Amino acid sequence: MMIYNSLTRKKEELIPHEAGKLSMYTCGPTVYHYAHIGNLRTYIMEDVLEKYLRYTGLDVKRVMNITDVGHLTSDGDTGDDKMLKGAKREHKSVMEIAEFYTRAFFDDCEKLNIKKPDVIVPATSRIDDFIRVISALEEKGYAYRAGGNVYFDTSKLKEYYVFGDISEEDLAVGVREGVEEDENKRNKADFALWFTKSKFDDQELKWDSPWGYGYPGWHIECSCISMKELGEYLDLHCGGIDNQFPHHTNEIAQSEAYLGHKWCSYWFHVHHLNTDSGKMSKSKGEFLTVSLLESKGYDPAEYRFFCLLSHYRKSLAFSYENLDNAAGAFKKLLAKIAAVLKNAEQSGKKADEEKLNELKRSFDAALANDLNTSLAITALYDALKSDADDATKIAAVGDFDRVLSLGLIEKAKKLNEAEKNAEEDIPAEIAELVRLRAEARKAKNFAEADRLRDEIASGGYIIEETRQGTRLRRKS
Ligand code: AMP
Ligand code: ZN
Repeated sequence: MMIYNSLTRKKEELIPHEAGKLSMYTCGPTVYHYAHIGNLRTYIMEDVLEKYLRYTGLDVKRVMNITDVGHLTSDGDTGDDKMLKGAKREHKSVMEIAEFYTRAFFDDCEKLNIKKPDVIVPATSRIDDFIRVISALEEKGYAYRAGGNVYFDTSKLKEYYVFGDISEEDLAVGVREGVEEDENKRNKADFALWFTKSKFDDQELKWDSPWGYGYPGWHIECSCISMKELGEYLDLHCGGIDNQFPHHTNEIAQSEAYLGHKWCSYWFHVHHLNTDSGKMSKSKGEFLTVSLLESKGYDPAEYRFFCLLSHYRKSLAFSYENLDNAAGAFKKLLAKIAAVLKNAEQSGKKADEEKLNELKRSFDAALANDLNTSLAITALYDALKSDADDATKIAAVGDFDRVLSLGLIEKAKKLNEAEKNAEEDIPAEIAELVRLRAEARKAKNFAEADRLRDEIASGGYIIEETRQGTRLRRKS
């Protein structure tokens, strides 16, 4: 597979350290609130990537952290802890908040057909590892103590801003607008590894450490969890584009200082879901969650389809109009698959393996080229339009859906069942009108056919002509 590597800013062939295997780390959610659908765009695209890599035959091991401590509201190490904010908002303990929103996150993932990672690690379960790695960084001279906290000394690195598109001037934490400078830092880019003193004293979760009673910084958790679960050489690290700096930049600084060699080969970043007012967030505008979309009548798979229609390296504009367009196209796609499925089942034929492989090749080629999901969807439409027989088309749909995870066959089956049930319930007089209309059409008496269609409509049924034949459904 060719994949865009944010580190080198080039498309490169993805070559794992160990042939046939691939280690994958994805930054998990901060569980202080529900995930918004922007966060979930990132997890959907990571899910497609993981499933595609498995589809190509790789044995993927995927690890994800759950951030339940240390993620501050400001990148400058001076804000409130997001978890504490959540706990105060809901008058609950931090652990209650973490448990509730971790479950809510995985419920959302399930609705969106996002597979659970192989290993999921809450940050609070690995405090001993964080302390061990921070102590080693201190021994190696990469960390210093100041004002009760421990900081990473970025001046000790040959290169700190490793992601090419970050300019020091624009992004240095200490000079960003709205970011308060932390006086303890020797260099403005330094970042906290361990806090014993911060702006807020009521931090609920604290642990004993060589530096006093306190808690870890956010960045150290991903470095430690990844190195412990996936070893010293990580193949692929993923996250949203905003994680590139400072989070991933700091992960690289710590991990490579600790290991003494290059750590991760490929960095995959998903661009943002935006609204009219910019990047989607939990505090600005309507708080868009999966449950909200469901309450408005959308199937979560329609949101997944909406995401797959765009490339992960482009920002995606969310509006209900855009979502409606995707949802409409998805419904049509399902109706088409349902019709093909019905014919395939009736024919009792088996898929033509040679033809199936041909269809698979164009699907595979789309994803092999930097995960081009919209082209992969085009390959799906092309397969349905192709000269393959229906059994082969259905085999292709089932195969592609191993990666797309839109529940295509299952949903098409349900449509067919619903149609069958509706047909069986059709009152005799409507069935008779349908029969008469078919006769009128055969005799090219279209005026009579139209009249009968209207009569059927006043009886509560809608008749539709599709390429697969006439369909009758009850008016909703
Ligand atoms: P958080 O729960 O804030 O740690 O974020 C979880 C993931 O969502 C991270 O990988 C973020 O980079 C990503 N993310 C945050 N906002 C957006 C957005 N508007 N669009 C896409 N991904 C986002
Ligand atoms: Zn992370």
